[in-house]
Parts: sequence; structure tokens; C-alpha cells
Amino acid sequence: MTANSECVRSSEHGKLSKKLHELSHEELNEYRVCEQSKFSDDKWVFFNHIPGAAKANSTLNWAMVLSDGSQLTEAHHAERLHWAKLLLLTLIVIPANGRIRATGSMSNLQTSFNYLLSWMSEVGYHDPHELTPQVVKCFMEHIAPIMAARCVDAELSRHAFARGLFVVSQLWSQRHSLSRMGVKPMAAHPFDGKNSEQISRELSIKVSNLIPPLPDEVALPLLNKAAWFLGTPANDVLRLMNVFTDPLAGSMVTVKSTFRSTYTHKAGLTNCSRHRRVRRFLDKFEFGIVAGERQPWHEPISFGGKESSSEYDGKRQAAHLWEAVRDAAAIIVQAMSGMRASELLSIRAGIDQDTGLPLEVRIEESLTGLYEWFVIRSAISKTEEGAPREVDWVLGMRPAGSSEIPLAVKALCIVNALQLPWMERARTAYLFLSISHGKGLRRTHATADSMGVKHLNAHIQRFIMSWVDLSNLPDQSAHHITENDLVPWRESRGQVFRTHMLRKTWAQYALACDSRLLPAIQMQFHHLSLAMTEGSYIGNNPMLLEALNSVSVQKRNLLLFETVTGKIKLAGRMGEQLDLALDQLRQDINDLPASEKWSQTVAWANRNELRMFFTAHATCCPSRSSEMRCHDVSKTPVWVRWAPNSSTRAPSLCAGCACAIMDKSHEQFWSDRYLASQLSLIAAEMAGVADGSFREVRFRAEQAKGILKKFGADIARLDHTVLSRSGKLCPN
Ligand code: SF4
Repeated sequence: MTANSECVRSSEHGKLSKKLHELSHEELNEYRVCEQSKFSDDKWVFFNHIPGAAKANSTLNWAMVLSDGSQLTEAHHAERLHWAKLLLLTLIVIPANGRIRATGSMSNLQTSFNYLLSWMSEVGYHDPHELTPQVVKCFMEHIAPIMAARCVDAELSRHAFARGLFVVSQLWSQRHSLSRMGVKPMAAHPFDGKNSEQISRELSIKVSNLIPPLPDEVALPLLNKAAWFLGTPANDVLRLMNVFTDPLAGSMVTVKSTFRSTYTHKAGLTNCSRHRRVRRFLDKFEFGIVAGERQPWHEPISFGGKESSSEYDGKRQAAHLWEAVRDAAAIIVQAMSGMRASELLSIRAGIDQDTGLPLEVRIEESLTGLYEWFVIRSAISKTEEGAPREVDWVLGMRPAGSSEIPLAVKALCIVNALQLPWMERARTAYLFLSISHGKGLRRTHATADSMGVKHLNAHIQRFIMSWVDLSNLPDQSAHHITENDLVPWRESRGQVFRTHMLRKTWAQYALACDSRLLPAIQMQFHHLSLAMTEGSYIGNNPMLLEALNSVSVQKRNLLLFETVTGKIKLAGRMGEQLDLALDQLRQDINDLPASEKWSQTVAWANRNELRMFFTAHATCCPSRSSEMRCHDVSKTPVWVRWAPNSSTRAPSLCAGCACAIMDKSHEQFWSDRYLASQLSLIAAEMAGVADGSFREVRFRAEQAKGILKKFGADIARLDHTVLSRSGKLCPN
């Protein structure tokens, strides 16, 4: 874009004649904003100097469709369209900061115009002077969920928010020029004097908190099915790959004949020979039986129709299974490491010949020497500042000396093996490949390139649709904050899935694992809890901390929401206090719909600046810093007690602490503790050693029982379990 001076040329004579604001209405309409477009045009098409750049990036379409379906060029938007065009014109001709905008950023600018103009149209604002700081605050509240819904890969960067708010900030910067051109300017700074960097940071935190984890009702079957696929099904699919690779082609094979007993010949390379081999292979192929099941996990791959099409049928079915295993592996790695899709897709292909582990995976000994951590370093991870940096992701843990391979590491090994035949011809060094195939994967003709985020998202959506049954989902999840939150999942069969939800799900289960997950997954999340204290990996990764913080805020809001709506009862000293403090809010929101109740509860929590830390045994709300027991025992000065002391925090300390909240979600922990303590006591009694040294165990049992009673837990059932496990109960 060439910089114009404020003095504009008459298009006919090329002479400097008038300033921009001196142009008449007709002259303004004829004014050439760029070589190809004039002011009155519905499309401003700028010349893009970057070779090969898409034309759409340097085009601003004023006939854009707003959120209500109307076009900005319709008569009722005339005022809005006029000042929007003037704003862009002044930005081109007389930018307040003296910087000329790049023509390739027009599509971003159009998005920013669209956010603001759609909202103004919706709420009935016409002119910039109506945008007071309070009104702009409402606009930001409005766009936060829109941006959260559009987010494709994890949290949006601050730059994305700055782009979203660009038009608002420029209405202020360009106010003098706009005013001269007859647009009544904003009366006050739209962000109360804060710069766009500060505002974007605040908004990005807000949006990050709006991105929900997968509802448990979806996450549990999805993760369980993905982990299930990495066992027997993965082994079968690796065997099944002969269908694509045809390893016998061209080699000498021995076959039985009706005339002679056996003879040797060269396996043919023609299509006909290949078809026959695939058919023979699939005819004999048997799928395995998953442990605990009775039938093979998949029916034999069937044929039908003519020989050539049946081969493709068989290949297509095999390719479908091949994709399912690859997608299951992607789900497991993402959900168990907290990686973003873009980081997952930047893992390099290959196996380290020395360690037998996927490239870039290393084993580190923990600080205590008790564990070995499997860590992968992502090659590229964008930071807020835009510079790439390397960060570590924990893929799993095992006790030192064990030969166990964590599930996420196994998943990477499986993907390496699955894609091996195409690696040689791939135009990338990355592990996850996008292989073009029509009628089933073909080794020789397929082209392989690195997979993109959108493709990965689409593949996982397809995985859910094919393998995860969501048809019986109820309308609402157990922890819903809006009505009918599961209906879109059920009706779309999982098409509302976005890969970034897996990071929130990672954080959710790292904070409190769900016992309904398969044992291998439970173990992984248990390891992650250890990684937060044992290793420094998670603490060094800002993206994981951000996810954990954001899910902590969501869990805090949910706990308060379910308390005020009467879904849960709080116990513990802080729990009882909080319950009383919530009385007024409870009355205020009693008659409101669920979504309004939710937003008022969130506002209440933010106003009171409540912070919460979650563990399996209690939730810590450290608002009474002088009474934090975990700090009392370590004699931490009161003025530095801003979070629990993880090295001294223990269930028995938390149970009587002034900062502890207990609710139904902690029942599992206290039930297990009650059972274990009672069983120890009975064993000691039977051995005749239940003396004073067991006072601590007795105390634990009593403490657990007291807490369980507050939840209304069935103590009689637990006692019955104790007796039956200890053998004191007669079988009859
Ligand atoms: S003892 Fe437990 S509840 Fe109390 S402050 Fe420490 S972590 Fe929180």
C-alpha cells in the first residue's frame, strides 16, 4: 500500500488539491483508496506485495455478513458502514501512529469490524461516540465466548485478542481525523486508559477460562475407547498392514499344487496377483480377543461383488481400522500429556535405535530416585511473544527399575510402526502424516505430508462418530452449567469436539482423576499428580500451568455453583463457612435460569477473589492464612502463605484445617482410607498386637468415618465390606 498524504489528488488531474476532510460527498465516493477500488465500492481490493499471497487476505469486503445474517451494505447499516469506511480510509491515509498498514492484514481487519459491527447492530448502537468504556466492557464480555468457540487449537494468543479489539482501539487513536470528517468521536478512552496489551491479556485469561473440558459423560467413553484400541486392536491392525504393503510381491514363494506337492515361484507384481494375495490374506486373517471379552473385537473383513472391487472393499475396511488406531494414539498422547494439537503434530517420526523409544523421548530419574519420568521435548511451541521455545511434556512415569512403558509412549511407538511404510516417501520429518488415499491406503502411490490441526480435529471427530457411542447420553451432564449441554454432543455424534478440549480434560483429571477411567489411564493421571510435586517438568511448562490454573478456576466456579443450587453439600471448616457466606447469593439467584445463575456465581467468586487448590482428599481455600495447618507445621511466616505447602500437606492435617472444604467428590478417598484403616485394625486384633501403637490408625479410621457421615455416606455398607474382606463374615 502506498502512503498518501492528507492532501489528496484529484483523480483526473493528478494534482494536489484538497485535504481528505475537505472532499465533498461525491468526491469522497470517487476517491481511490487503492489502485483497484474507490471509496464507494463494496469491496476494497488492495495489491499484495507478498508473492503467492491469497487475494482474500488483502481484500476488505464491506458486504460482509453480520451475525444476524444481514449484510453491512443493507440500508439500515448505512451509518455504521460509513464511519467504518472512514476509519479504514484514515488508517490508510493519515494513521495516527504514522505506520502504514500491511495490505495482507485486511482479512483480520474485516474480522475485527465484523465482531464490533455485529454486536452494535444486535444491541442497537450506531456511532462510535456511543461506545463508552462501560459499553466497551459489555462488548468484550460478548466476544469472549465467541472467540472461545472459534478457537481451534488450545488457547488463543494475546495477539488474536488484540486483533479482535483492533477496531475499537483505532476508533480512539483516529478520533481527531474522524472528527474532522464528521464522525462524532468517543468521549473517553475505551479501555479506561489501559493499553491493548493489558486488555488482551485480561481477555485471553477470560476466554481460556471459558473453554470447557470435555464433559465426563463424553471424556470417559472417549478415553477408555482410545486406550482400548492401543491393546489387541493395535496389534491386529499392525498385522493387517500386509494388505497395504504386500510384502510378498516380487519375492520367491512356495505354494502347494494339486499336481505336485509344492513348488516355488516369484510372486507376481500385476494388479491381478496383488488382488489374489490380498484376498487370500484377508480370508485367513483372524482378529484377536481383547482381555475380558469373549468374542474377537472385530468381524472378519468381508468381501462382496467383483474381485477387483472386493479387494478395494477389504482395503477400505482395513484403512478404516488403521486410521482408528492412529487417531486413538493421538487422543491418548494429547489427553495424557496436555499438549496442544500443534505440538503433537510437530513430534518427529522415528525410533531411537539405542533406547528403543520414539525420537525426542528421554527418560529422567526423579529427584528422589524413586521414579523414572518419560519426557518429550516439543520442538516448536509458540509463546505469547511469538518466539518459538522448547518445553517438556510428561508422557508417563514408572517406578525406578521397572520395564513398564507408559501408555502415551506406547501410543507414539504404535504410530511410528503404523506409518513406517509411508515414511520413506513422506515430504516431512513429522510423525503424524496425512496420507492421500482413495480406495484404501496404498503404499506405492500414496503421497504423505504432515498433518494439519484441522485434519487432526476432523479425524478425531470421525473416530468419535465411528467408535464412541454417544446415542444414550442424557440431555444434561452431571455438572452442567447450561441447560441441555449434552444435546449437541448426542445429536452431532461428537462433531462439536475440538482438540483443545483435551488439554482441559488433561488438567481436570490431573487435579482429580475419575475412577471410571480404565486402570491404565487412572495410573497415568496419578503419575501426573506426582509430576506436579516430584518433578519440575509441569512447573516449568507455562502452557500446562495455564491449563491447570484455568481448570482450577472452572472447578472453583462449579463447586460454588453446585453449592448455591443445592446439588452438593459442603463439609470441613471452610466448607461450612462458605456455605453461610453463599446464603445471600442463593436467595438472589433463586428464580433465575441456570445460565444466569452460573454467570452470577462466577461474578461473586471473582469479586471475592477466592482461590482454591484441589486434591483427592480435600479442597483447600487458603483465605485464612494464619490458620493454614500445613504451613503451621513448617513454621512458614504468615505473609508468604499464599498457597498450600505441598511438602507438608497431608489428609489428616487438612481434615481439621480452617481452610479445608470437603464434598461428595472426596468420598472415594475417605472411603478407601476408612476401609484400609479398619482392615489394619482387624488384622492387628487378630494377631493380638492392637496396642497403643495403633492409636494413629484408629484415629484415621474415626476421622474418615466422621467426614463420611457428613456426606451421608453408607457407613454400614463400608463396615460390611470390612468384615467380608477380613474374613470375619460367614459366607452364608
Ligand atoms: S492443611 Fe490442607 S486445607 Fe489446610 S491450608 Fe494446608 S492444604 Fe489447605
